[in-house]
This record gives sequence, structure tokens and C-alpha cells, in this order.
Amino acid sequence: MDLPKQDLTQAIERWFREEARDLPWRRKRTRWRSFVSEIMLQQTQVSRVVERFEPFMKLFPTPADLAKASEDSVNAAWAGLGYYRRARNLQTAACQIVQRHGGRVPSKLEDLLALQGVGRYTAGAIASIACGGQAPIVDGNVHRVLARLTADPFALDDRECAKRTWACSEELVEASGDPGVFNEGLMELGSQICTKHSPVCERCPVARWCESRKRGLVDEIPPVRKRPRKLVEHHHAVGILRGRRIMFQQRSDKGRWAGLWQLPTVESEKRLRPAEIRSKLDFDVDALKHIGSFERVLTHRRIRFHVYRAAMQSGQRVGSRGRWHGLTEGQMPPLGAAQKKTLDVLAASMRCD
Ligand code: SF4
Repeated sequence: MDLPKQDLTQAIERWFREEARDLPWRRKRTRWRSFVSEIMLQQTQVSRVVERFEPFMKLFPTPADLAKASEDSVNAAWAGLGYYRRARNLQTAACQIVQRHGGRVPSKLEDLLALQGVGRYTAGAIASIACGGQAPIVDGNVHRVLARLTADPFALDDRECAKRTWACSEELVEASGDPGVFNEGLMELGSQICTKHSPVCERCPVARWCESRKRGLVDEIPPVRKRPRKLVEHHHAVGILRGRRIMFQQRSDKGRWAGLWQLPTVESEKRLRPAEIRSKLDFDVDALKHIGSFERVLTHRRIRFHVYRAAMQSGQRVGSRGRWHGLTEGQMPPLGAAQKKTLDVLAASMRCD
């Protein structure tokens, strides 16, 4: 790497000290706060994490508090952040921190990597930002900044290219005066200045060393890729009321929205007719009526939710997974954002009756 490492790392550290956004986990630094924020920030927008970070920390201020919490209370505190598997991984990691490290987040890279749900990037971020270790980090943002700086043809899924980026990140962090500030600055640079679609090179603290800027390659790194078409799924959610209670079913503890609750739902690759929905429920319903639909777009698929109302004769069994819950907020089981929306559609249709 031909970059002037010390000048470059100092420029990023200086810029970050002056320009860093004011984010809750930056106001008060502890290893546990860094750990939680890094897990929350995986695949979730910063604005969402900003809203939910402090309430979560208030409930679970230490690994020991999270380790002994119930799964439902953790899921409820995680609501709105999506990808609930991370919440389960975080709780498992908290138990491991209690058992293996006396309740304190470890500082060594290899100890961090041995925790549930912690990959090379997250371990590097915690080791450097929270503990000051000279650990490299590479995520999509960092990869793009380093690829542009070195005019490396960008291909995150190319193993050789990824290896070069990790090596570059390692050389830079070793040259930096403050590894935590440098790494966080590099991430911030990728998210605020050297963005994917509209980099602001005029405000970039390392523009003078940027090879792709010199060679006019900024718009070509990364190359534009044709996105594969997203798969479409149809979720037919059925609202069944009994007095002031409503039936829910818990999702399996694996896969999307694992362990969360939902209206009884039939999933399918195509839109189903009412008779098909009835035949796939594990209990009998009458008067199945469609009341509204909406769509959620996830990373690799679109999910069309179709909300129905149905009646059930009193005394009928509710199926092996059905449970009745009260209709007020405090009586509801933990639900994902899409599942809450199915309830909104149901409530709107009831107001129109
Ligand atoms: S000069 Fe432009 S392309 Fe180069 S690192 Fe800075 S923002 Fe990115």
C-alpha cells in the first residue's frame, strides 16, 4: 500500500474528533454499551438504533442483567430493530460473558470472536473502540472507502479483494495514534462523506491521497450491479376475536421473526383463496373475510401481508399453537413491526363496522 499511513490516519482522527455525530453510545463509553450498540447497528439504520439504545440499556445495564432476563422481555425491548436473531445472540453472548469473563466484556480479539453472534468486524470494532486495541475492521462502508482510496476494483464478495482490504485496514490501524478513534472515523467517513451513491469529495479529509479521485474512478468504485429480483411471499394473517381477547400464535424459534408472536398466519409463495387458507389453519374458522393488504420489503424478498377477519364458534379448540391474549398494549405478546401492522389493519376495519 503506497498511502502515507501516518498522515492519513491522523487526518481521519482529526476529522472525526471535530465532525463526529452525537450518538447515544458515544456520549458515555463502556465496553458493554459499545458491544450492544455494535450488535444493534448490524443491518439496522442508525436512526432506529438511536431511538431504542438507551431504553434497552436502562433495562439491561450489564451483561448479567441481560443474561437473566426472560426471552419475551428481551424481544419486547428489541422491538423495531428487526432481525430478532441478533437479540437472541446478544443474550447468549451476555451469558457467555458472565460465565467466562466474570460479567465483563473481554478486550482480547480472540475472546470476543468466541462470543455468540460476534464476527471479525464486530470483534475489531469493540476491541479498538471500547478497549483501544489495534484491531482492524472492515464492513461495507470501510471496504468502499479503502477501495476508493487505493483505486482497487471493488468486489466485496471476491475473497482476494476482501483479503487486500483487511490487510490495508490492518496496516492503517497499526499506524494510527488512536485505533478506536481511527476505526470509528473510518466508518463515519464511509457513512457520511464517502457514500455509495454521492461521495462528497470536496469535504473529504483524505481527498489529497485518494487514487480513484486522481484517476476519475470514483463513480466506478463500486461498480453498479444489477440487483436480482426479490422473491415474493404471501402471508395470510387471520384475526379472530373472542370478547376482548384475540388469538395469537408464536413463531418457530428459528428463522425470520423467530420466537415472536403473530395472528394465525398461513405463508405461501402465491396468494391463496379463502378455502385454501382455511384448509391450512390447524383449527376451524367461519366467515373468513379479507379486510386489507400491505407490503414489507426485506433485504432479499417482498412479503405481502393479507389480513383477514374470521369467526370461531365458542368451545372450538384453538389448535396446538393458539393462545388468547387481551387487546390492550400491556397484554399483547412480543410482536414484530409487520405483525403490529396487521393488528392496525384489523383495528381499522373494526372501527368501520
Ligand atoms: S476523495 Fe472522495 S472517493 Fe476518495 S475517499 Fe474521499 S470521499 Fe471517497
